[in-house]
Order: sequence, then structure tokens, then C-alpha cells
Amino acid sequence: MKQQTYADYIRDHYGFDGEGEVTDFMTRRDGQLLLGGRVNLTELARAHGAPLEVVYTPQITTQVRRMQRWAEQARAQSAYGGRFLYAYATKANFAAEAVQTALQAGAHYETSAAADVIVAHTLFRQGVLPADRLICCNGSKEPNYLEAIRALRADGCERLIPVLDDLAELEALVDTPQPLLLGVRERAAGNRDGTHPGNDRFGLTGAEIEAAAARIAGTRHQLVLYHAMIGSQVEDAAHFLATLRDSVAAYCRLRRKVPTLRYFNFGGGMPTSGYSLGFAFDYQGFLAQLMATIRDTCAAYDVPEPDLIGEFGRYTVATHSVLLLEVGATKQGQPGQPDWYLVNGSMMVSTPDAILVDGQEFVILPLEGWDRPVRPARLAGRRTCDSDDVYPRPHRAPLQLPELGEGLVLAVCGVGAYQQMISGRGGAHHCLSPEPARVIISERDGRLVSRYVPQQDQATIMRLLGYQPTSMPADWPVAPARTPVAPAPRPLRVAPVTVGAGGIVRRRTHRRPARTGRVALAGD
Ligand SMILES: *Cc1c(COP(=O)(O)O)cnc(C)c1O
Repeated sequence: MKQQTYADYIRDHYGFDGEGEVTDFMTRRDGQLLLGGRVNLTELARAHGAPLEVVYTPQITTQVRRMQRWAEQARAQSAYGGRFLYAYATKANFAAEAVQTALQAGAHYETSAAADVIVAHTLFRQGVLPADRLICCNGSKEPNYLEAIRALRADGCERLIPVLDDLAELEALVDTPQPLLLGVRERAAGNRDGTHPGNDRFGLTGAEIEAAAARIAGTRHQLVLYHAMIGSQVEDAAHFLATLRDSVAAYCRLRRKVPTLRYFNFGGGMPTSGYSLGFAFDYQGFLAQLMATIRDTCAAYDVPEPDLIGEFGRYTVATHSVLLLEVGATKQGQPGQPDWYLVNGSMMVSTPDAILVDGQEFVILPLEGWDRPVRPARLAGRRTCDSDDVYPRPHRAPLQLPELGEGLVLAVCGVGAYQQMISGRGGAHHCLSPEPARVIISERDGRLVSRYVPQQDQATIMRLLGYQPTSMPADWPVAPARTPVAPAPRPLRVAPVTVGAGGIVRRRTHRRPARTGRVALAGD
């Protein structure tokens, strides 16, 4: 009998026949994987070696625009009278290129912390965050968070909306000289389904919301927003809707007493396709049903339909970056257990949620070997010495991968949200695992441009930890070698690449070092 190949496995399990869209962010064409249909990962791995992080910011634009389009269709479908406002929850990824791309695509801004408001303030002053965007400030607010909010408002930002998480925050804000737009966060929303225990810490009870509304009524400020977030990566649309229904009714009851109220904000929870090849979610259908629910409930309470806000964290950024790791060695598993594929990175450092979030996995696709026999394998990060540096978790089923073993390059997808923030981008990591080199591809005036950031070096790591690496002999092999596919990695600081017809990235034949370390991707 013919042995099952990896391509057979993918076809049998996910209905993907090997060519076309593998997911809504990854395409396979002529046997090569293309991120966002345009960035050829196979070529990039060949040019730069692995490990390599490939950041493709136009994917963020795609995500925002898709959702806005679905929302427009949903509004038409449900004859919804309010607007739909897309906000980016920046805590998912604070990288400047991610935040700026989301803003350029028209996103509003959601903050989670004092430092986040200061970032927003900086972008507001630079004009990157236009004055017409809402800035929703969530989370429990320490004095410095409240101070940052007041400073941004004093600087002329009128569409800033502190969302009260506690009545004490209102008292701290009430003497702000400029009129404020305020929101309240419903405590019940996050606890209604009982599956997100940590949510119990957020928001106000019904009685507290009443008290806040009464207190605000006598001030120069306005209560405009009702916030009800139920969870994150909510893949069951029916459950999502059922859980929000009571919050919509609560909004309507409050609206009858507070005529200034005009935004219903369901927070995060919109799921991403980055974690599972079997993922399916009808975004437009979900929004249409939510809008219909709000429309009907508003009609029943005889209040106008609010503008609907969503705060999209992982949905916005999870899929715009991919980590390429190479299997450096295979190690035999225990009897009856699959072999280990030892990769030149750390799964713990690169995908911490695999350990922190029960059941969290990531889409992992091999760049080559689809025509080779498939076999079960587990990944182990070679750059730490930690028994937890394995993927998937020991109680989960192993991966199915081509039997290629050594030299196989894997695309670890869905890592663009939360992973780097939780791991501490730019920091000293577990076992001093260095941050991989990064290619950041963005779109400027219709052209793709790319920037290459080398792998974090040993001296940087040592400095972060208080060592003085100045006395290190220059010829010490201080950084773990990256796997050069081309003969030498250093001249590769510049590799001009073109996006050819059909969006396939091709590297030009010549390479020359340049001081800037910039890589140009020319649009066609
Ligand atoms: C984290 C967070 C979000 C983003 O959640 P995702 O599920 O990543 O979209 C939105 N709103 C609030 C208040 C949050 O805390």
C-alpha cells in the first residue's frame, strides 16, 4: 500500500488539495507557501535562513478592511441604524508597525494601561492617530493611568473615552476641567458563562452602573458608552450572541435613563484563524445576528440603535506574522512515542500561550516535503534546556509532519498576537534564547518595502542582564549560529526581492551588503 504523504493527510483532514488558500492568510502555489498571498516564505527561508520571523503588515490592513466590509453587509442585511466602529486592542501587539497599520486602515484605538495611553498620546501628537478616532481606555486604572488620560484630554483629544472599571475612577476623573466622554464596563458580561474566571475582576455591577450614571448626570461629563466583553477567541457564534443578549437589554434599560448613551461596545472575543487549520467562523453572519438582536431589543425598549464598537485584538494581528523554524536534528522518542523534531528556537519563548492558555495551539505548516510520507512528531525547542519547551503540550496529540526531519523548515503561524508581548519583545529570554532575525514587510504607496532586523546578539542580551560585554573577544562564537541556506549569512543583510506577477516573491540574483540593512521588495 502507498504510504500516506503529508499532502494526503492535509487533504483528508482539512479538505485542502495542496493548491490555493490553506487558510484566510496563507496560500500555497506551485508548492510554495505565500503569506497573505504575496510573500513567498520558501524564498525568504532560502534567502535568510531560519529562524526568521516574517512580519507582513498588509495582512493587518486586510483583516480590518474585511471586517469593515462584513459589517457593512451585516448592517444592510439587518437594516441596522447604528454605525459599526472597528477598534484595535493594542495590547495584542504594540509594535509600531502593527499599531500604525491598523490606524491607517481606519481603526479606532483601545488602551489597556497607562503606557498604552502614552503611546496613543504620542501618535495623536504626530497625527498618526487622527483626532476623529475614539480612544477607549479599559482596565483597572492606577493613578498614572488616570493621569495619562487627563493629560491626553488636556492636549485636545476630545474622543477619548475612559471606561470606568471602578467607581473610584470616576471620582478621580470628575474634576477634569475639560468635558469627558465616559463609558461603563458591565461586570456581569464576562462572568455570565462562567468560563472566564479572571473576568470577575473587571467592571461594575448593575447598581454601580446606576450610581455612576447618576453621579455623571450632575457634571460637565457625559456617559456615552456601555462596554460588555464576554471573553477572547470565542469561536461559537451562537454562544457569543446568547451571552451578549442580556448586555444589550441592560444597555437599553440604561439608555432610557441616560439619553447621552450612544455606543454599545462588545469588546474583544472575535476569533482568529491562526490557531487551527479546521477553523471556521461566519463573521458576517455573527455581526448580522448581533445587529438584529440590538435592533429588536432597542425597538422593544423604544430607544435608538447605538453605534456598535468591537475591540479587535487577536483578530487584527494574530495572522500577520509567521515564525520560520528549522529542524536541526531528530531524536528518537521513547518506545511507542513519536520522535522529537529539535528546532532551532524556543517554543516556550515564541508561543508562550501554548503553555499559558489551556488548549491553545498554533497553525504549523511545513514549507516543503508535502509529497513525503507523513509521520507523527513533537517539537522541542533546542535553545532552552527546559522540559516544558515542547509543542504540542504532552497531553495533546502530536503534530503530523513530513518525515523529512533534519533541514525541514516549519512555518509557525498565528504568533502575531500576544506572544511577543507576553514573552517581552527585545528582552533577555529563557536560556538566553536570542530573538530571531526579523523581516518586516509593509506597503508604502502601493509598493511592498521590507526591512531586515538581525538576530538579537549576545552582547545585547548580556547588557540587558547587567554584564559588561565590552571585554568579549570579537572572535568568540557568541550567538548560536543561524542556519545559512546560502553560503554566508552576513552579506545577506540586503537581498533585493521583487514581487513578480502573481505575487510570487523572487530574490534577485546579486547580493550586496549595505549599511542600512534594508531589503527592498518592489511592487509590480
Ligand atoms: C484584551 C482586550 C481586548 C482584545 O481581545 P481579543 O480577544 O484579543 O480581541 C478587547 N477589549 C478589552 C477590554 C480587552 O481587555
